Amino acid sequence: MAIIDLRSDTVTQPTPAMREAMAHAQLGDDVYGEDPTVNQLQEIAAAMLGKEAGLFVPSGTMGNLAAILTHCGRGDEVIMGNQAHTFRYEAGGVAALGGVHPHTLPNQVDGTLLLDAIESAIRPDDEHHPITRLIALENTHNRCGGSPLSVEYTRKVGELAHAHGLVLHLDGARIFNAAAALNVDVAELAAPVDSVTFCLSKGLCAPVGSVLCGTHDFIRRAHRIRKQLGGGTRQAGVLAAAGIIALQDIVPRLKEDHYRAAKLAQGLAELPGVVVDATQPPTNMVYLGLSDTIAVGAAEIVAQLKEHQVLVGATGKRRFRLVTHYWIDDPAVETTVAAFAEVLKACS
Ligand SMILES: *Cc1c(COP(=O)(O)O)cnc(C)c1O
Repeated sequence: MAIIDLRSDTVTQPTPAMREAMAHAQLGDDVYGEDPTVNQLQEIAAAMLGKEAGLFVPSGTMGNLAAILTHCGRGDEVIMGNQAHTFRYEAGGVAALGGVHPHTLPNQVDGTLLLDAIESAIRPDDEHHPITRLIALENTHNRCGGSPLSVEYTRKVGELAHAHGLVLHLDGARIFNAAAALNVDVAELAAPVDSVTFCLSKGLCAPVGSVLCGTHDFIRRAHRIRKQLGGGTRQAGVLAAAGIIALQDIVPRLKEDHYRAAKLAQGLAELPGVVVDATQPPTNMVYLGLSDTIAVGAAEIVAQLKEHQVLVGATGKRRFRLVTHYWIDDPAVETTVAAFAEVLKACS
């Protein structure tokens, strides 16, 4: 039986159409700007996000790092959420490599930062303080249940940033999931921000890559930072070819993943022994916890589910995250619920 891998949408393998496009991609040396497939991906991505230009980068981490290092110099400060991927899971790169000081504010349960809190965090001009330069948001918010940030909220943060002479960066790793969930054009979500990065390698199924988008001038400067970070790659069109298919074929079907996340959440919610955060999860992530009747912890449940060929992620001693994606179909949802039922019964 095939393994059902719900640990993340990063586990998605490329589709047959992607492998086909990769095999036949026209290539050039992208450090010379001569890879036609990379150039095409960058143009398509920028157009979809309503930005002037795009830059293909090997990972979302490098996209955020290149963006923040382009916007900020050493000793500058970036305001971001304490649950932000950039704060928690990017190895402290902005501080380690850029000398940029993260100023964290508590993320609300919906992934937002309170506008008042942002405003209070902006430093006055005083030689005791670092210089506040940038605000960074995340959409969808991974640690906050995969929740989408609305156009209106993003616009308010953009207005606040610009009123104080700051710039706004968006870690839009899953911005296409946000747009699908909110029923808005992705360009509307990106309109208030100065730069945005999104991942091709998550729910969009491509094997590698992210695209950073912004103005021509910003992307020209980010290009040099990418080179500094060792991210200048050569015949990268083999990867970009999959990215183009991702934008054309996978973006329009993301709602299916959200629908299956809801089915999964509802199925699990009926089982004794677990408490699901939301039976109508906003996008493709289902978070749940064990109730007191279960004697073992999440690690044990994960191990037992693996015996049933179901892989899920433990996000705490008694917490789990399950992420739906292209390779999770309706039978996989049913099998997962059945596997949980058996395992929980054995452990209660
Ligand atoms: C996955 C992810 C990234 C980037 O991760 P990479 O693994 O470096 O591509 C950035 N932000 C969020 C919210 C993510 O989920």
